[in-house]
Amino acid sequence: MGTHTGKCLCGDVTIEVSGEPVMQGNCHCIDCRKNTGAGFATILFFKEEQVSLISGEINSYQYTADSGNKKTKHFCKRCGSVVSGINTGRPGIKSIYVGILDDGSFVKPEFNVYTSRVLPYINIDETLNNFEKGKQ
Ligand SMILES: [Zn+2]
Ligand SMILES: [Zn+2]
Repeated sequence: MGTHTGKCLCGDVTIEVSGEPVMQGNCHCIDCRKNTGAGFATILFFKEEQVSLISGEINSYQYTADSGNKKTKHFCKRCGSVVSGINTGRPGIKSIYVGILDDGSFVKPEFNVYTSRVLPYINIDETLNNFEKGKQ
């Protein structure tokens, strides 16, 4: 799959991801909504070593997820775009929201999680693996 580049809204932060994501899917949880400002989030999970910060300064914010795990979001110090995230429940894995990528056209979500929270205007693809809460 090669390498994909990404950048934040102001362009200060640039990242590079290489190879296939470990998994990819849509999350309808409240945290993702707050983080992205969108009705749901499409997330790609990579091994930490697949994701490189090329330029820019990152701030981080830690919070406790629904699951009880601690999550840390990394965001551009200047414009606030979410760049990546880590989760104590998934050691060694970094999550990336599709919106940070310069070209997300290769992305194919495999699942939906937190379908119990789906907003009424969103259509769920029933052919995917869907979970009422987190992925098992
Ligand atoms: Zn920025
Ligand atoms: Zn979520």
